This record gives sequence, structure tokens and C-alpha cells, in this order.
Amino acid sequence: MKINSNFDNLVPNYLFAEVAKRTNEFIENNPDKKVIKLGIGDVTLPLAPVVVEAMKQGADELGNKDTFKGYPDYEGYEFVRKAVSDYYKSFGVSVSPDEILINDGAKSDSGNIGDIFSKDNTVLVTDPVYPVYVDSNIMAGRTIVYADSDASNGFAAMPDESVSADIIYLCSPNNPTGSAYSYDQLKAWVDYANKNDAIIIYDAAYEAFITEDLPRSIFAVEGSRTCAIELCSLSKTAGFTGTRCGYTVIPKELERDGHNIYKLWYRREATKFNGVSWPVQRAAAAVFSDEGQRQIKENIAYYQENARIIASAMDELGIYYTGGKNSPYIWLKCPNGMGSWEFFDFLLEKANVVGTPGEGFGKNGEGYFRLTSFGDRDNTIEAVERIKKVLS
Ligand code: PLP
Repeated sequence: MKINSNFDNLVPNYLFAEVAKRTNEFIENNPDKKVIKLGIGDVTLPLAPVVVEAMKQGADELGNKDTFKGYPDYEGYEFVRKAVSDYYKSFGVSVSPDEILINDGAKSDSGNIGDIFSKDNTVLVTDPVYPVYVDSNIMAGRTIVYADSDASNGFAAMPDESVSADIIYLCSPNNPTGSAYSYDQLKAWVDYANKNDAIIIYDAAYEAFITEDLPRSIFAVEGSRTCAIELCSLSKTAGFTGTRCGYTVIPKELERDGHNIYKLWYRREATKFNGVSWPVQRAAAAVFSDEGQRQIKENIAYYQENARIIASAMDELGIYYTGGKNSPYIWLKCPNGMGSWEFFDFLLEKANVVGTPGEGFGKNGEGYFRLTSFGDRDNTIEAVERIKKVLS
């Protein structure tokens, strides 16, 4: 037998392993030092009380013959899809419940959506990039082209008419660069996709962090219903990284190559996915209740304040950065011409602060660094004070 030899083309991702290795070595050699981690992309605040209560009720219902639930619908229960649809309505976007599919998070769908597309398609990703888009397409054997996000475009890559692509991954607000597209910028991508008969896979995992007048969904942009699929997640919005729930939106009129895309994806899900558990769907619906929205917004505001604290330190130091305002990520230019790993070692040794070297996200990340706002407030303040001390 033979394995899928495309796996041989994957570039080993040393990033987080190397970060952990260097951090652990430093801690071992310096047990007296308090190391603060601002590199993590995971949330730290607990689930909102209303969400926990719904999950408990869901568990109780499973333990009662009258309310027991077996296999869920592949696309998620109607009441959850309706809650998501109403959520979109709250920021002025119309998607109907039967265009929404509930899933176990955005990573699965961003990696799996390629199942419905030919391996002959060319994939466009922006660089730096969330690595799942790249690795899942390498596994499928697709050719990947890169659109540069760099200081010249505020780390928000724009389409190049001379490049052709069939599948386009966009992430806004972006991980890792924190940049978020404006309506006009997103419209340029939508026009490009419609013109090229391409499909945009739009990752809106961080939409809840948007504070300015920027699109929370690609479906806020005219023309997107004929070229886009949107992925979203409760991971960062509501602390579901360990609970696992997200949703994908596919407009009913989206067609390519004589096929309806929603129907293809539904067929794929019906074959390979058996839905999200009842307690988790109950919890997800609670996120979208009025009280759920109030409670999760408190947590988001906490992270946003952390982001503001980090960003204002960069302002004080005169360091170029993107993100921090509409995103939990601050993407900064390493000071004094340092490389990503050089700055990592410098910060670890001098300030005992851990971040993420930008080059782990693509070639345009070289010389850049990512800090996150998902940590504890006091630690964030202390880390920022230490960074200011060693850099001023
Ligand atoms: N998309 C982006 C851009 C992310 O940064 C992440 C997680 O870090 C995910 C998707 C994964 O989200 P989920 O936890 O819903 O699988």
C-alpha cells in the first residue's frame, strides 16, 4: 500500500514546539524568574454562566427518557441555526437558517471544505497565514499561490489581477496580523472572485473583536453571495476552544461547475460528520440569547482592553504594528532590525516575556512578532511594563 504522498510535501511546523522548547529551557535554567506568556492563541476566561447552565440542562435532558436526544441533524438543530441567523441580523446581515451549518469549530471546516473541490484548483492564501489553510491544501495536492500582506498594505493583502486562483482563503480580522478589511477592500476581493469564477473561503473567527465600522461578515458586501463561504466560531467569541462549536454559512445560490455548493457540502457532511452534541448545541444557542450576548461581551471587552494596553505600549515605543484595535492580536515589527527568533530570545531573556515569532506564519512574517491579548490582565500589564523597560 501507499500513503498519501502529499504528506511528504508538508513543511514541518516547528513554530509552537520550538517556542515551548526555548521557553521551558529558560524556565529550567532560571527558576527564580516569572515568565509571562503573551504568545498563546487560546482563551483564558471561563465560559459565561448562562452558557454553563444551558450545557448542564442539556446533559440533564439526555439523562431523561422524555427529553433524550440521539443523532442530531447533520447541519445542526433549527433553533441554533435560527439563533445564528438572528445574530447576523443584529449587525445588518441577512443569512437564512437553512444556509447555516453548525459544526465543531472553524478549524475542521477550513481544513475539510476542500473535499468538495477538485485537486486541480489553484489556492490563494495571504502571507502571513493561519497554517491550516496551507497544510490542508498541501495534503490534498493543490498548488498554492501567495498574496503578500506586508507593511505596504497594512498587512492586508489585496488581489492582483494578473494572478489567477480558484479558491481564496481570507481571514479578517486576521490571525496572525490583526488587520481587518474595510468594506471597499473586501468588495475588491469579491469582485475579483466573481470575475475569476473563484470561491472565497472567508474565516470570520475574530469578527466579535471588531470595534470600528468594518464588515463583520463577507455577506455584508454586495456580490458576495455568488462567490463566498463563511466560516465562524464560538471559540474566541465565547470561550468555546475546549467546548467546540462553530458555524459555516453557504448561500443557497452559490454554484460552481454546474453544482450547488451548499448541497455538495451537505452531502459531504452527511457522509463524514455526525453533528454536534446536544449539550453543546444548547450552550451555543445560549451564547446568542440576550443574556448570553451581555455576558460574552464582558469577556471580549476584557481581552480588548488587554489588546489596547499592549497596543498603546507599542505607540509609546514608536514600534510599527497592526491589529490591537479590531483584533486580539498585535503584530509588531521587531525593533532594531532584529529577526523574529532573535527578538523572541531577547524578550525571553531580558523581559521574561514569551511571544510568537512571525516567521512561523510565512515569509512575510520574518522580522515580525505576534503578541496576544488572551492572557490575564495583571500579567499583561506587567509584561508590557517589562517590554517598555528593556526597549526604551
Ligand atoms: N480560524 C482562525 C483564523 C484561527 O485563528 C483559529 C484558531 O486559532 C481557528 C480558525 C480555529 O477555530 P476553532 O477553535 O473554531 O476550530
